[in-house]
Order: sequence, then structure tokens, then C-alpha cells
Amino acid sequence: MRAWSLFLVCGLSVTVTARAQEPGISETLARDRASRVSSVRYELSFSIPRDKAAAITGREVVSFMLTDASRPLLLDFEPGTSRRVRTLEIGPERMAAAVVNGHIALPASSLHTGDNRIAIDFDAGDAPLNRNDDFLYTIFVPARAHEAFPCFDQPDLKARWTLSLDVPDGWETLGNGVEVSKATEGGRTQIRFAETQPLSTYLFAFAAGKFSVERDERNGRTMRMLHRETDAAKVARNRDAIFTLHAAALDWMQRYTGIPYPFGKFDFLLVPAFQFGGMEHAGAIFYNASALLLDLSATQNDMLSRASVISHETAHMWFGDLVTMRWFNDVWMKEVFANFMAAKIVNPSFPAINHDLRFLLDYYPLAYDIDRTDGSNPIRQPLANLNEAGTLYGNIIYDKAPIVMRQLERLVGADVFRDGLRDYLTRFSFANATWPDLIRLLDDRTPDDLAAWSHAWVDEDRRPVITTELSVTSGRIARLALTQRDPDARRGLLWNQQLDVVLGYPDRLEHLPIHMNGMSMEVETARGRPAPLFVLPNGGGLAYGDVHLDAASRDWLAANTPSIRDPLTRGCAWLTLWDAVLDGELPAARLIDLALRSLPRETDELNVEEILDQLRTAYWRFTPAPARNQLAPRVEQVLRTRLALSRTQSLKGAYFSALRSVSLTPASVEWLTSVWEGRVKVPGLTLAEQDDIALAEDLAIKAGAHWREIVTRQIARTKDPDRKARLTFVMPALSSDVGERDTFFASLADVANRRHEPWVLEALRALHHPLRGESSETYIQPSLALLREIQRTGDIFFPKRWMDATLGGYSSAAKAGAARTFLTTLPADYPDRLRRIVLSSADLLFRSASMK
Ligand SMILES: [Zn+2]
Repeated sequence: MRAWSLFLVCGLSVTVTARAQEPGISETLARDRASRVSSVRYELSFSIPRDKAAAITGREVVSFMLTDASRPLLLDFEPGTSRRVRTLEIGPERMAAAVVNGHIALPASSLHTGDNRIAIDFDAGDAPLNRNDDFLYTIFVPARAHEAFPCFDQPDLKARWTLSLDVPDGWETLGNGVEVSKATEGGRTQIRFAETQPLSTYLFAFAAGKFSVERDERNGRTMRMLHRETDAAKVARNRDAIFTLHAAALDWMQRYTGIPYPFGKFDFLLVPAFQFGGMEHAGAIFYNASALLLDLSATQNDMLSRASVISHETAHMWFGDLVTMRWFNDVWMKEVFANFMAAKIVNPSFPAINHDLRFLLDYYPLAYDIDRTDGSNPIRQPLANLNEAGTLYGNIIYDKAPIVMRQLERLVGADVFRDGLRDYLTRFSFANATWPDLIRLLDDRTPDDLAAWSHAWVDEDRRPVITTELSVTSGRIARLALTQRDPDARRGLLWNQQLDVVLGYPDRLEHLPIHMNGMSMEVETARGRPAPLFVLPNGGGLAYGDVHLDAASRDWLAANTPSIRDPLTRGCAWLTLWDAVLDGELPAARLIDLALRSLPRETDELNVEEILDQLRTAYWRFTPAPARNQLAPRVEQVLRTRLALSRTQSLKGAYFSALRSVSLTPASVEWLTSVWEGRVKVPGLTLAEQDDIALAEDLAIKAGAHWREIVTRQIARTKDPDRKARLTFVMPALSSDVGERDTFFASLADVANRRHEPWVLEALRALHHPLRGESSETYIQPSLALLREIQRTGDIFFPKRWMDATLGGYSSAAKAGAARTFLTTLPADYPDRLRRIVLSSADLLFRSASMK
């Protein structure tokens, strides 16, 4: 790999002192330290005051082995302006500690070849501690531990951690290690946790606060669940499933890998308004509470997502925690394995689900959302400094990589693949490895050239454009050929992949598997077969690419997709038709018409959700307002009918939320209002507090002057304090008064007002709602301008979500122009990854604007 060999050649020769002034953790610094430092141990204690504004004081002892003490060594520490180092001792020697650009330089004169011991008293930085009134939790991924305490903040300096916490009496605590002692005295409680196995800094974690604790035992293992949910019935309804899903995932992973769970105890914490779906701290997984504690209105997808996120985080205990990427450029590896394993784990728990269809609809649309745009990125990206690591995350890592990994498994065979992974996990246990390490290991077991395969799929961005050519003579196929081309003609990449081409006939589908390993190839097995109704190169759910159908197949599918009997092929047809809309080959109006005719006939809930998604996007983003208003009565009527006739709560939930989103006619809005007020019940659908809030927000946007009445009433009747606080925050964004919205938007320029990122995003979506159109236009430029600061101050997904929420409501040429102007006037030093974020978030806007 180019990036890799580059630093092997030049990385080690650069001296650290020359880099001491560089902020963040550069690859050069990390390589230098990894070559000198080993056997790291941290003994850390924190004293957490009840007042969240008061400093958390900390003391730590760092011990490590050093092979070269001739040069200074940097410890990372960047606690923010109001916090500091109090004392620093190296061995017996007390010294003055200066923090320069986020580093404490330990002078060579005080270091020894061999064992070293540093003791530091400090005020902990608050930024990664997520301090709330009566709880806090750490998020140190990707390299934020040093924003709280001094450490070597890089993934390949794994350490053993011993943590002690001193917290207000009545608080519960959670760490990576098992609790070994607990004593309460004078209104304070001291907890000490056992020393951990070797862990990277980003996997070290703790939480403390007012949490309820649920305990349960599965397969002889006691697990704990800490949470803040006040709805006891909701907890009772969900707890068994949550413990069981964890136990099933642990059991599956132990069998697949042949390696017992590596970290002893196993607990998890449910955080309200958590930044991510979950975070895989070893032995102490943190989750977004709402993803695990489901409402009665949860859809089938919600239940699948819950099982998936639990399996994903559990799989990380092996892929990521036990074996960790050496540097964050390979962060995708742990994500892809976690997703890949999750897909394998979840299947047996949902025997009624079509898993091939689920894989297709879970990963392909999200991967395509980025990979079809000019803002796409390769799966494996170079990373010069960990302060940019956050920008590596996104759909390509989470959604394209699993598709690519499935292709790899098919290429080498499932058994060879599993044996290769077992070898990899065993060889690198409690240590670090790279993608080339794994590819080499697999390459030894197969005749294919995996390095070449890996280049197109892993080192480069975008997807192939796949075109079908069909010629028919006397009712029989004379020739069926597929060609692929690189959308970036300068590269001329070739994607080696397996396809399952489907030919559709009135009474059957015929599957023709092919291995596409050239620019153009004839599907020889098709020759002589009767002329089909349609040819779908990705009809078996395998092919990855922008599939352009022949015109006859496209026309047939745009009219007849619901008559295809196999749900997987229907799902493939929907994804292909969506690309046709975006490529300007199929009018959005025809897709909407097809969706409305399909919904009454669609039997698979996963397809229903995909169709509803496409319908909503086509309706809001690709239909001009006058046409939308004309269309509204028909759309609402179809959704209302489906809502009434659907038999499952989850399907009703899906239809209800679609109806809530699209409703425009006074009759429909009035009906939704009566549901929200409780005057009308939807038989078979129970709305949870969260649903009421979502409904109130939609109604407020459509209510004009009555908006305040609606929101005020909803706040008053919201029982959950976290949700109440969230809606109170969002409220001004729902206002019908432009001035009030302007003031709120302006307040987001202050980082303090962006602390609760999910709240901010909810407010942004309200501000930029398509019905708010013109008046919110003025927010676009400042939001774009703020992106750099958003990246600096926010969590890893925030820049992309900020941009999506900002541009997601628009479709006009003027707004597209605003985004283009921003992109063409960027300063030369503007981070490329942020530019790509803007490009990908603006993609639908660019496409819809160009169609008018
Ligand atoms: Zn993950």
C-alpha cells in the first residue's frame, strides 16, 4: 500500500523534537513512540464533583518501558484553556510541566532506557466527558482521551488500566474492569476497578451518575445494564430481549472465532441522546438508549437495527478491541467486521426475515448515497494526523465495506475466510494489525490475486457504471452483454466482482451467475433463451454499481415491478429504478406512481420501508411544490388506507410516520391533529411519547400561528425529562416567526449551543423543512462556513449530519448555486474531506436542481 510503505521509509527518521510543536497526534509522532515505548500501564483516579461546572481533579501514574531514552518523549494532553497540570513527577524528580500544542514534553535527561514512571496531578479536560447535571460518560474515540488526561493517545500503544473513581454518594459507576472495592464516606463514594487487559486509549471508558441498574444472567455470565429510562413499563418490555441478544451475540462470536470472550466482565450503558448508535468500550459498551429501548410502535426495521447494533458492538470485542488497527486509516476494518459479523449473528434470531433482501436494503442504498457522488471516498484513506480521524467515518466504511467484504468471502470461500480470520485474531491478540496484514494472510490461502482485487475496492472511491446490452432474434436472446466503466475515466479502474444476473419471464425468474472480471463480457448462458420481459444484472442482490438497464427492461420494471414474485428481485428493481431517477432516465412522477400502485401489493415489510423512503424523497426533493400539492390527496389516501389495513404494529408505524411526513391537505393535517390530541385512535397502533413529539413538531411546522400552542402543550405533557429538555431546545426552530428562527439559528454559532448534537440536528431539520423554503435560505451560507469549526468541536458524525440537515430540505437551482459557489471559492488549505462532505450532502440538491 502506498500510504503505508511511505511512512515506513521516511517516518522513523524524523526527530520528535522537531514535531513537538505540531498539534494533534501525527503519524510520525505515533510511529516514533510505538518504536520506543512498550508495556504501558495507567493508574488513574478521578474525583467527580456534584457540580458539573467544577473541575474534575485527577491523578495518574503512567509506567512504561523505553528502548531509547536519548530523545525527549511526548505525552499528549489537551484539556482546554481552564484546566491544567498541577504537578509532574518523573521518577523521584518533580518538574515544571508545560503543555505546548497539546503535548507535555518529557526531557531526555529525566528518562531512562528501561522502566519509567511518571506521576501527574491534573484537572481533567471536560470536552470528551459529556458532563450532564447528574451523570457523565466518556467518549475517547478516535483520539480524545488526551483531552481529558495525559496519555499516549494512539491505538497501538495498548495499556493496562487501573481506574479509581470518587463520586457523589448515590451515583452508579461503570468502567472497563470489574469493580473490586466500593466504600462510602461523608457523602462520597470511592470505587476501584480491576486492572484491564491491554486496551487502546480510545477503548478505555467510564461513566458515573444517576443510573438504574438491571442485572441478568445468561449462559452463566452476569451482565449489567445501566440506564436512565423513567418509563418502567418500557424497561420491563425490553430488558429480556436486550440481555438475550447480547448473550446470543457473545455465544456466536466465541464459536465463529474459536476464541473465548477476552475481557472478563460484560456491562452496557444506555445513554439518552447518545452521539452514536453504540460504542464498543471493552467490557462496557455504551448505546443510544432509544435504539435499544423500543416503543410499542417500533417497526420491524427498528427491531432488526437493535439486534444489529448489539451484535455489532459485541463483535467489536474481538474485531477492534482484541485486535486493533495499528493506525486509524484502518478504522474501517473493525467497522466492516463488526457489521459483517452482525449480519451473520442476527439472521438466526429473525427466521421470518429475507436476509438477502435485508443485506441489500441495509447496505446498498446508504453506500450508493455516497459512492454515486463526487464527494465519495475510498474505504481505506491515508491519515496524517489523528485530529482528522473523525472525518474517516461514514457510509463508505459502514455500508460499502460490508458489501466488499461479502464479495471477498465469496471470492475465497466461507471456510477459508473464517480460518483466515481465526488466524488473524490469534496472531494479533491484544495487539495491532493492518489491512495488508490480513490480505497477506488470506492471499496465502487462495490462488486469486487479492492485492489487485483490494486496490479497486478498498483503495479507490466510486462504483462501476454497469450497462446491459440485449439483442433478441426471433424471440430468443442472440446476445446479452455487460460492460463496466469507471465513472472517473482518468483512472479506468476495473472492479472484479460476482454477479447474479436475473432474466424475468411471466411465470419465473432465471438466475445466471457470472464472475465479471473484465471491462465487457457476454453472459454466455443467456444465449438462446427466450426473450425475457426484463434483464436485471443485479437481480440476485450481488452486483455493486450504477446499473443502467436497457430501455425495454426499464420501461417494464417502471410499470410492473410489483408483479415480480421474488421480494429480493423486487428490492433490486427498486434500487435500480431509484438510480434511474437520479440519472435522469426515469421521471420522479413515474416512480411515485409506481410506489403508490406497489404499496397495496407489497408483501415484504423491508420493501415497504424502502418504497416509503423513495416515495418521501421523490415527493419532497424531486416534485415541484405545485405538482406536490396536486399529488398530496392521492398520496395521503393511499397511506391512510394502508395504515388502516396493515396488520402489524410495525407496518402501521411505518405508514403512520410516512403519512405524518407527507401530509399537506387540511383534512389530513386535521386528522393528524385529532390523533395527536387523543380524540381519535388509530386501531392497532400505540403512539409512544417520542411519536407524539415527532407528530407535534410536524404539526407545528404546518400550523402557522398556532405552532406555539402545539409545542407548549407537547412540552407540558412530556414526562421524560431528557425528551422535555430536547423539545424545549428545538422549540424556537419550530416557530412560525422568521425572526425567532433567525435568532435561534444565530445562536448555533456558539459551540456551547451545539453541545447536544442530536438536538441541534432535529432543530436544523425543522429550520430547513421544505415548507420553510425561502425564509431559511439565508442559513445555508453560514452553515457551510461553520463546517470547519463543527469538525473541530463536534463528534465524528456531526459534520456530515450537520450538512445533510442543512441541505436536506432543498431542491431549487438557487440553493444548488449557493452550495456550488461555496465549493468553488474554498481556500486552498480547506480540508479535502470536508469538501467531500459538502459534495455528497449536496448531491440530491444538485441532481434535483438540474432536472427543473
Ligand atoms: Zn462500530
